[in-house]
Amino acid sequence: MLALQGAFREHVQALARLGADAVEVRTPADLAGVDALVLPGGESTTMDLLLGSSGLREPLQAAIAGGTPVLGTCAGLILLARDLEDGVEGQRTFAALDVTARRNGYGRQVSSFEADLELADEAVPMRGVFIRAPRITRTGEGVEVLAQLDGEPVCVRSGPIMAATFHPELTGDDRLHARFLAGVAS
Ligand code: GLN
Repeated sequence: MLALQGAFREHVQALARLGADAVEVRTPADLAGVDALVLPGGESTTMDLLLGSSGLREPLQAAIAGGTPVLGTCAGLILLARDLEDGVEGQRTFAALDVTARRNGYGRQVSSFEADLELADEAVPMRGVFIRAPRITRTGEGVEVLAQLDGEPVCVRSGPIMAATFHPELTGDDRLHARFLAGVAS
């Protein structure tokens, strides 16, 4: 669990409810023995700076490039996106997920809202909490859409990477985390 900034505690609780042993990662040494990564929501520009000062950028980049499964939510999705729109000058990403993410894509007026989402292969909708959320404005080949909102992807998967523009850790509905962990286990 990347724990530099943002909504990581709620993710740790969700992972614990599912029986996973979540380690809070703040330094490169914390990565020892980690099987999978979760990148939380928060503020991607701040995380970008902290990734540099913590020394975590290179080892995380290497782990992700090496196929370590990753779940990224909101700012975490921004960190994974290959292309970024409306980033700040010089903002970097791991460029591991072939999508374009537009930061704060819903603008200032309706910057935060909730919506019921239909998740692929699930009968019961999932409540999505969107907080200054990014929008996915492009998906590359091989990117599977797991949930949409008004015809736009809001949850995607590509190989070992899963990412959502909303905050699945804030509702107590652990289905997305469960799906991610099932992928890690297999
Ligand atoms: N707008 C934030 C960013 O650019 C993301 C918001 C969130 O993670 N809830 O990083």
